[in-house]
Amino acid sequence: MDFRSFFDNIVTGVGKKLEEKTTGRRLMAFHTARLAQRLFSGEHPVVWVNVTIPFEIINAFPVASTYAEFIGAALAGAEMAEPFIERAESEGFTTDGCSYHRALLGAFLNGVLPKPIGVISATCPCDGGLKSVAEIGRLADVPEMFLHVPLKSKDEGIAYLADQMRQMVAFMEKVTGEKFDRERFGEIIKLSNETADVLKRVYKYGEMSPTPYDGKALKNFQIVMLPLMGTDAGMQIAKQFEKEFSENAASGTPGMKNEKLRFLWIQNRIQFPNTLLDELEAKFGANIVWDELNDIYWEPIDPSDPFEGLARRLIENPLGGDLSIRIETLKKRAKQYKIDGAIHPCHWGCRQSQNVRSLLEKALNEVGVPMIALDVDCVDKRSFAPGQLTTRLEAFCEML
Ligand code: SF4
Repeated sequence: MDFRSFFDNIVTGVGKKLEEKTTGRRLMAFHTARLAQRLFSGEHPVVWVNVTIPFEIINAFPVASTYAEFIGAALAGAEMAEPFIERAESEGFTTDGCSYHRALLGAFLNGVLPKPIGVISATCPCDGGLKSVAEIGRLADVPEMFLHVPLKSKDEGIAYLADQMRQMVAFMEKVTGEKFDRERFGEIIKLSNETADVLKRVYKYGEMSPTPYDGKALKNFQIVMLPLMGTDAGMQIAKQFEKEFSENAASGTPGMKNEKLRFLWIQNRIQFPNTLLDELEAKFGANIVWDELNDIYWEPIDPSDPFEGLARRLIENPLGGDLSIRIETLKKRAKQYKIDGAIHPCHWGCRQSQNVRSLLEKALNEVGVPMIALDVDCVDKRSFAPGQLTTRLEAFCEML
Protein backbone atom coordinates (compact mmCIF):
# COMPACT_ATOMS: atom_id res chain seq x y z
CA MET A 1 0.00 0.00 0.00
CA ASP A 2 1.52 3.30 -1.12
CA PHE A 3 -0.31 6.00 0.81
CA ARG A 4 1.81 8.73 -0.67
CA SER A 5 0.51 8.08 -4.20
CA PHE A 6 -2.99 7.42 -2.85
CA PHE A 7 -3.22 10.91 -1.33
CA ASP A 8 -1.31 12.50 -4.25
CA ASN A 9 -4.03 11.15 -6.55
CA ILE A 10 -6.82 12.50 -4.35
CA VAL A 11 -5.21 15.94 -4.23
CA THR A 12 -4.85 15.98 -8.03
CA GLY A 13 -8.34 14.56 -8.71
CA VAL A 14 -10.20 16.80 -6.25
CA GLY A 15 -8.04 19.77 -7.27
CA LYS A 16 -9.31 19.38 -10.87
CA LYS A 17 -12.92 19.16 -9.68
CA LEU A 18 -12.41 22.32 -7.62
CA GLU A 19 -11.32 24.13 -10.76
CA GLU A 20 -14.71 23.23 -12.26
CA LYS A 21 -16.73 24.12 -9.18
CA THR A 22 -15.92 24.98 -5.56
CA THR A 23 -18.01 23.19 -2.98
CA GLY A 24 -17.56 22.80 0.76
CA ARG A 25 -17.29 18.99 0.53
CA ARG A 26 -14.66 19.23 -2.20
CA LEU A 27 -12.64 21.79 -0.27
CA MET A 28 -12.83 19.57 2.80
CA ALA A 29 -11.63 16.53 0.84
CA PHE A 30 -8.88 18.55 -0.82
CA HIS A 31 -7.42 20.07 2.34
CA THR A 32 -7.70 16.80 4.26
CA ALA A 33 -5.86 14.98 1.49
CA ARG A 34 -3.25 17.78 1.46
CA LEU A 35 -2.76 17.25 5.17
CA ALA A 36 -2.35 13.51 4.64
CA GLN A 37 -0.05 14.13 1.65
CA ARG A 38 2.18 16.19 3.93
CA LEU A 39 2.11 13.41 6.49
CA PHE A 40 3.26 10.77 3.99
CA SER A 41 5.66 12.98 2.01
CA GLY A 42 8.70 12.04 4.11
CA GLU A 43 9.64 15.72 4.06
CA HIS A 44 8.25 16.75 7.44
CA PRO A 45 8.77 15.48 10.97
CA VAL A 46 5.62 13.68 12.09
CA VAL A 47 3.88 13.82 15.47
CA TRP A 48 1.04 11.36 16.09
CA VAL A 49 -1.70 12.48 18.49
CA ASN A 50 -5.22 11.45 19.43
CA VAL A 51 -8.38 13.29 18.52
CA THR A 52 -8.70 15.82 21.35
CA ILE A 53 -5.12 17.12 21.42
CA PRO A 54 -5.29 20.90 20.74
CA PHE A 55 -4.09 21.26 17.17
CA GLU A 56 -3.58 24.98 17.69
CA ILE A 57 -0.43 24.04 19.64
CA ILE A 58 0.68 21.41 17.10
CA ASN A 59 0.11 23.84 14.21
CA ALA A 60 2.46 26.36 15.83
CA PHE A 61 5.33 23.98 14.98
CA PRO A 62 6.69 22.94 11.55
CA VAL A 63 5.46 19.34 11.74
CA ALA A 64 3.01 17.12 9.90
CA SER A 65 0.39 15.66 12.19
CA THR A 66 -3.02 14.18 12.41
CA TYR A 67 -4.94 12.25 15.00
CA ALA A 68 -4.88 8.47 15.23
CA GLU A 69 -8.61 8.00 14.63
CA PHE A 70 -8.36 9.83 11.29
CA ILE A 71 -6.37 6.90 9.90
CA GLY A 72 -9.04 4.35 10.88
CA ALA A 73 -11.78 6.51 9.31
CA ALA A 74 -9.77 7.17 6.12
CA LEU A 75 -8.96 3.48 5.68
CA ALA A 76 -12.61 2.53 6.20
CA GLY A 77 -13.76 5.24 3.77
CA ALA A 78 -11.44 3.75 1.14
CA GLU A 79 -12.57 0.20 2.08
CA MET A 80 -9.02 -0.72 3.03
CA ALA A 81 -9.30 -1.11 6.82
CA GLU A 82 -9.84 -4.86 7.18
CA PRO A 83 -6.34 -6.20 6.42
CA PHE A 84 -4.89 -3.78 8.96
CA ILE A 85 -7.51 -4.63 11.57
CA GLU A 86 -6.68 -8.32 11.02
CA ARG A 87 -2.97 -7.59 11.42
CA ALA A 88 -3.59 -5.83 14.75
CA GLU A 89 -5.77 -8.72 15.94
CA SER A 90 -3.14 -11.26 14.93
CA GLU A 91 -0.68 -9.36 17.15
CA GLY A 92 -3.05 -9.73 20.11
CA PHE A 93 -4.85 -6.36 20.13
CA THR A 94 -8.27 -7.17 21.51
CA THR A 95 -11.32 -7.40 19.25
CA ASP A 96 -13.18 -5.88 22.18
CA GLY A 97 -11.47 -2.54 21.51
CA CYS A 98 -12.28 0.22 19.05
CA SER A 99 -11.56 -0.58 15.40
CA TYR A 100 -10.40 2.99 14.72
CA HIS A 101 -7.41 2.08 16.86
CA ARG A 102 -7.00 -1.49 15.61
CA ALA A 103 -6.85 -0.19 12.03
CA LEU A 104 -4.27 2.39 13.05
CA LEU A 105 -2.12 -0.12 14.93
CA GLY A 106 -2.28 -2.66 12.11
CA ALA A 107 -1.27 -0.01 9.58
CA PHE A 108 1.63 1.05 11.78
CA LEU A 109 2.74 -2.56 12.32
CA ASN A 110 2.59 -3.13 8.55
CA GLY A 111 4.99 -0.21 8.12
CA VAL A 112 2.67 1.92 5.98
CA LEU A 113 2.49 4.87 8.40
CA PRO A 114 5.33 7.34 8.89
CA LYS A 115 7.47 6.95 11.99
CA PRO A 116 6.91 9.85 14.38
CA ILE A 117 9.48 11.96 16.23
CA GLY A 118 7.12 11.98 19.22
CA VAL A 119 3.57 11.09 20.25
CA ILE A 120 1.02 12.93 22.41
CA SER A 121 -2.33 11.62 23.61
CA ALA A 122 -5.05 12.68 26.03
CA THR A 123 -7.30 10.77 28.40
CA CYS A 124 -10.30 12.31 26.58
CA PRO A 125 -12.37 10.98 24.86
CA CYS A 126 -11.19 7.44 25.57
CA ASP A 127 -8.50 5.23 27.05
CA GLY A 128 -8.20 3.39 23.73
CA GLY A 129 -6.84 6.47 21.95
CA LEU A 130 -4.44 7.16 24.78
CA LYS A 131 -3.07 3.62 24.78
CA SER A 132 -2.93 3.19 20.99
CA VAL A 133 -0.95 6.37 20.48
CA ALA A 134 1.31 5.41 23.38
CA GLU A 135 1.80 2.00 21.73
CA ILE A 136 2.92 3.69 18.53
CA GLY A 137 5.39 5.72 20.56
CA ARG A 138 6.69 2.51 22.13
CA LEU A 139 6.95 0.68 18.79
CA ALA A 140 8.75 3.65 17.23
CA ASP A 141 10.84 4.14 20.36
CA VAL A 142 10.22 7.91 20.50
CA PRO A 143 9.35 10.31 23.34
CA GLU A 144 5.75 10.23 24.50
CA MET A 145 3.60 12.48 26.62
CA PHE A 146 -0.03 12.50 27.64
CA LEU A 147 -2.53 15.03 28.90
CA HIS A 148 -4.47 13.94 31.93
CA VAL A 149 -7.88 15.59 31.51
CA PRO A 150 -9.63 16.03 34.88
CA LEU A 151 -13.31 15.17 34.93
CA LYS A 152 -14.78 18.43 36.19
CA SER A 153 -14.37 21.99 34.97
CA LYS A 154 -13.40 23.29 38.38
CA ASP A 155 -10.85 26.08 38.36
CA GLU A 156 -8.08 23.88 39.75
CA GLY A 157 -8.80 21.32 36.98
CA ILE A 158 -8.40 23.98 34.32
CA ALA A 159 -5.19 25.28 35.89
CA TYR A 160 -3.89 21.68 36.14
CA LEU A 161 -4.61 20.92 32.46
CA ALA A 162 -3.41 24.33 31.25
CA ASP A 163 -0.10 23.61 32.95
CA GLN A 164 0.14 20.27 31.10
CA MET A 165 -0.47 22.14 27.84
CA ARG A 166 2.46 24.41 28.65
CA GLN A 167 4.48 21.23 29.18
CA MET A 168 3.20 20.04 25.79
CA VAL A 169 4.77 23.14 24.23
CA ALA A 170 8.08 22.27 25.93
CA PHE A 171 7.71 18.67 24.65
CA MET A 172 7.17 19.92 21.10
CA GLU A 173 10.20 22.20 21.38
CA LYS A 174 12.26 19.25 22.57
CA VAL A 175 11.22 16.75 19.85
CA THR A 176 11.31 19.26 16.97
CA GLY A 177 14.31 21.29 18.13
CA GLU A 178 12.26 24.39 17.20
CA LYS A 179 11.51 27.40 19.38
CA PHE A 180 7.83 28.05 20.13
CA ASP A 181 6.67 31.20 18.35
CA ARG A 182 4.30 32.80 20.87
CA GLU A 183 3.17 35.51 18.46
CA ARG A 184 2.29 32.96 15.75
CA PHE A 185 0.44 30.88 18.34
CA GLY A 186 -1.69 33.94 19.24
CA GLU A 187 -2.53 34.40 15.54
CA ILE A 188 -3.52 30.72 15.25
CA ILE A 189 -5.82 31.04 18.26
CA LYS A 190 -7.40 34.17 16.81
CA LEU A 191 -8.09 32.40 13.51
CA SER A 192 -9.38 29.33 15.35
CA ASN A 193 -11.87 31.58 17.24
CA GLU A 194 -12.98 33.22 14.01
CA THR A 195 -13.44 29.82 12.33
CA ALA A 196 -15.45 28.57 15.31
CA ASP A 197 -17.69 31.63 14.90
CA VAL A 198 -18.34 30.76 11.25
CA LEU A 199 -19.05 27.14 12.23
CA LYS A 200 -21.63 28.29 14.76
CA ARG A 201 -23.41 30.12 11.96
CA VAL A 202 -23.11 27.04 9.71
CA TYR A 203 -24.77 24.85 12.37
CA LYS A 204 -27.50 27.43 12.93
CA TYR A 205 -28.87 26.59 9.46
CA GLY A 206 -29.77 23.19 10.87
CA GLU A 207 -32.58 24.86 12.81
CA MET A 208 -34.39 25.63 9.56
CA SER A 209 -37.14 23.36 8.38
CA PRO A 210 -36.68 22.13 5.72
CA THR A 211 -32.94 22.15 6.28
CA PRO A 212 -30.85 23.81 3.56
CA TYR A 213 -28.49 20.81 3.45
CA ASP A 214 -28.85 17.05 3.23
CA GLY A 215 -27.71 14.34 5.62
CA LYS A 216 -24.33 13.89 3.93
CA ALA A 217 -23.27 17.55 3.85
CA LEU A 218 -21.94 17.67 7.41
CA LYS A 219 -20.89 14.03 7.77
CA ASN A 220 -17.62 13.84 9.78
CA PHE A 221 -17.48 17.61 9.50
CA GLN A 222 -16.09 19.02 12.73
CA ILE A 223 -13.88 16.03 13.37
CA VAL A 224 -12.21 16.57 9.99
CA MET A 225 -11.91 20.28 10.79
CA LEU A 226 -10.02 19.71 14.06
CA PRO A 227 -6.47 19.60 12.60
CA LEU A 228 -7.38 22.57 10.40
CA MET A 229 -8.56 24.85 13.20
CA GLY A 230 -6.45 28.00 13.19
CA THR A 231 -5.37 27.53 9.56
CA ASP A 232 -6.41 29.41 6.41
CA ALA A 233 -7.65 26.12 4.92
CA GLY A 234 -10.01 25.57 7.89
CA MET A 235 -11.44 29.07 7.52
CA GLN A 236 -11.84 28.65 3.76
CA ILE A 237 -13.86 25.44 4.23
CA ALA A 238 -16.05 26.94 6.96
CA LYS A 239 -16.85 30.00 4.86
CA GLN A 240 -17.68 27.90 1.80
CA PHE A 241 -20.24 25.85 3.78
CA GLU A 242 -21.73 29.05 5.17
CA LYS A 243 -22.02 30.45 1.65
CA GLU A 244 -23.75 27.33 0.30
CA PHE A 245 -26.22 27.06 3.17
CA SER A 246 -27.02 30.78 3.16
CA GLU A 247 -27.66 30.71 -0.60
CA ASN A 248 -29.96 27.69 -0.25
CA ALA A 249 -31.75 29.34 2.68
CA ALA A 250 -32.19 32.62 0.81
CA SER A 251 -33.56 30.92 -2.32
CA GLY A 252 -35.73 28.48 -0.33
CA THR A 253 -33.82 25.50 -1.74
CA PRO A 254 -34.01 22.53 0.63
CA GLY A 255 -30.97 20.28 1.01
CA MET A 256 -33.12 17.28 0.09
CA LYS A 257 -36.49 16.92 -1.56
CA ASN A 258 -39.44 16.32 0.69
CA GLU A 259 -37.81 16.38 4.15
CA LYS A 260 -40.25 14.74 6.55
CA LEU A 261 -38.19 13.35 9.42
CA ARG A 262 -35.43 15.23 11.19
CA PHE A 263 -32.76 13.03 12.72
CA LEU A 264 -29.96 13.51 15.16
CA TRP A 265 -26.92 11.26 14.67
CA ILE A 266 -25.14 10.36 17.89
CA GLN A 267 -21.33 10.27 17.87
CA ASN A 268 -19.57 8.60 14.89
CA ARG A 269 -20.95 8.11 11.41
CA ILE A 270 -20.48 4.77 9.66
CA GLN A 271 -17.22 5.34 7.80
CA PHE A 272 -17.27 2.75 5.02
CA PRO A 273 -19.54 3.25 1.98
CA ASN A 274 -23.12 2.09 2.54
CA THR A 275 -26.59 3.05 1.35
CA LEU A 276 -28.53 3.11 4.64
CA LEU A 277 -29.14 6.85 4.68
CA ASP A 278 -29.93 7.04 0.96
CA GLU A 279 -32.64 4.43 1.46
CA LEU A 280 -34.15 6.28 4.42
CA GLU A 281 -34.05 9.53 2.51
CA ALA A 282 -35.77 8.02 -0.53
CA LYS A 283 -38.44 6.10 1.37
CA PHE A 284 -39.17 8.32 4.35
CA GLY A 285 -37.77 11.78 3.62
CA ALA A 286 -35.41 11.25 6.56
CA ASN A 287 -32.64 13.82 6.96
CA ILE A 288 -29.75 14.01 9.43
CA VAL A 289 -29.98 17.62 10.48
CA TRP A 290 -27.51 17.52 13.34
CA ASP A 291 -24.53 15.35 14.30
CA GLU A 292 -23.53 15.25 17.96
CA LEU A 293 -19.89 15.79 17.00
CA ASN A 294 -20.71 19.04 15.15
CA ASP A 295 -20.89 21.38 18.08
CA ILE A 296 -19.07 24.58 19.04
CA TYR A 297 -19.78 24.26 22.73
CA TRP A 298 -16.86 26.38 23.93
CA GLU A 299 -16.33 30.10 24.40
CA PRO A 300 -13.72 32.04 22.37
CA ILE A 301 -10.19 31.48 23.64
CA ASP A 302 -8.13 34.47 24.77
CA PRO A 303 -5.24 34.77 22.24
CA SER A 304 -3.11 36.62 24.79
CA ASP A 305 -3.43 33.80 27.35
CA PRO A 306 -4.76 30.72 25.50
CA PHE A 307 -3.82 27.79 27.72
CA GLU A 308 -6.70 28.15 30.21
CA GLY A 309 -9.20 28.50 27.37
CA LEU A 310 -7.83 25.44 25.57
CA ALA A 311 -7.94 23.49 28.84
CA ARG A 312 -11.55 24.51 29.48
CA ARG A 313 -12.52 23.46 25.95
CA LEU A 314 -11.04 20.01 26.48
CA ILE A 315 -12.47 19.50 29.97
CA GLU A 316 -15.93 20.56 28.82
CA ASN A 317 -15.92 18.24 25.77
CA PRO A 318 -19.32 16.51 26.09
CA LEU A 319 -17.74 13.15 25.17
CA GLY A 320 -15.40 13.21 28.16
CA GLY A 321 -15.94 13.57 31.87
CA ASP A 322 -19.29 13.87 33.59
CA LEU A 323 -22.04 12.24 31.48
CA SER A 324 -24.56 14.86 32.63
CA ILE A 325 -22.81 17.42 30.36
CA ARG A 326 -23.35 15.17 27.33
CA ILE A 327 -26.95 14.43 28.27
CA GLU A 328 -27.87 18.08 28.81
CA THR A 329 -26.20 19.02 25.51
CA LEU A 330 -28.12 16.32 23.61
CA LYS A 331 -31.44 17.37 25.15
CA LYS A 332 -30.82 21.03 24.42
CA ARG A 333 -29.78 20.40 20.81
CA ALA A 334 -32.66 17.98 20.22
CA LYS A 335 -35.08 20.81 21.02
CA GLN A 336 -33.05 23.42 19.15
CA TYR A 337 -32.96 21.37 15.93
CA LYS A 338 -36.58 20.13 16.26
CA ILE A 339 -35.43 16.51 16.18
CA ASP A 340 -37.94 13.72 15.50
CA GLY A 341 -35.65 10.78 16.23
CA ALA A 342 -32.07 9.89 17.13
CA ILE A 343 -29.82 7.28 15.55
CA HIS A 344 -27.08 5.89 17.76
CA PRO A 345 -24.75 3.49 15.92
CA CYS A 346 -23.32 2.25 19.26
CA HIS A 347 -19.92 1.72 17.66
CA TRP A 348 -18.51 -1.65 18.71
CA GLY A 349 -15.83 -1.43 21.39
CA CYS A 350 -16.48 2.21 22.24
CA ARG A 351 -17.21 2.73 25.92
CA GLN A 352 -18.54 6.22 25.16
CA SER A 353 -21.08 4.63 22.80
CA GLN A 354 -22.02 1.29 24.29
CA ASN A 355 -22.04 1.88 28.04
CA VAL A 356 -24.27 4.92 27.99
CA ARG A 357 -26.85 3.89 25.42
CA SER A 358 -29.76 3.41 27.80
CA LEU A 359 -28.99 6.65 29.66
CA LEU A 360 -28.89 8.60 26.39
CA GLU A 361 -32.12 6.95 25.24
CA LYS A 362 -33.87 7.79 28.53
CA ALA A 363 -32.68 11.41 28.39
CA LEU A 364 -33.81 11.88 24.79
CA ASN A 365 -37.16 10.25 25.53
CA GLU A 366 -37.67 12.89 28.24
CA VAL A 367 -37.68 15.54 25.51
CA GLY A 368 -39.93 13.43 23.27
CA VAL A 369 -37.20 12.04 21.01
CA PRO A 370 -37.11 8.25 20.46
CA MET A 371 -33.69 6.71 19.85
CA ILE A 372 -32.64 3.64 17.90
CA ALA A 373 -29.37 1.87 18.78
CA LEU A 374 -27.86 0.01 15.83
CA ASP A 375 -24.96 -2.06 17.22
CA VAL A 376 -22.68 -1.53 14.28
CA ASP A 377 -18.93 -1.24 13.90
CA CYS A 378 -18.36 2.08 12.15
CA VAL A 379 -14.93 1.11 10.75
CA ASP A 380 -14.82 -2.68 10.44
CA LYS A 381 -17.35 -3.84 7.86
CA ARG A 382 -16.68 -7.56 8.34
CA SER A 383 -19.80 -7.90 10.48
CA PHE A 384 -21.90 -5.27 8.72
CA ALA A 385 -25.43 -6.57 8.08
CA PRO A 386 -27.16 -3.95 5.91
CA GLY A 387 -30.35 -5.98 5.44
CA GLN A 388 -31.03 -6.26 9.16
CA LEU A 389 -30.13 -2.63 9.81
CA THR A 390 -32.38 -1.41 6.99
CA THR A 391 -35.31 -3.41 8.39
CA ARG A 392 -34.83 -1.95 11.85
CA LEU A 393 -34.35 1.61 10.58
CA GLU A 394 -37.42 1.37 8.37
CA ALA A 395 -39.51 0.16 11.31
CA PHE A 396 -38.17 3.09 13.35
CA CYS A 397 -39.15 5.55 10.61
CA GLU A 398 -42.60 4.00 10.31
CA MET A 399 -43.08 4.28 14.05
CA LEU A 400 -42.12 7.99 13.93
S1 SF4 B 1 -15.19 5.59 18.80
FE1 SF4 B 1 -15.07 5.57 21.03
S2 SF4 B 1 -13.34 4.23 21.53
FE2 SF4 B 1 -13.18 4.77 19.34
S3 SF4 B 1 -11.87 6.61 19.26
FE3 SF4 B 1 -13.97 7.35 19.39
S4 SF4 B 1 -14.38 7.63 21.60
FE4 SF4 B 1 -12.55 6.33 21.39
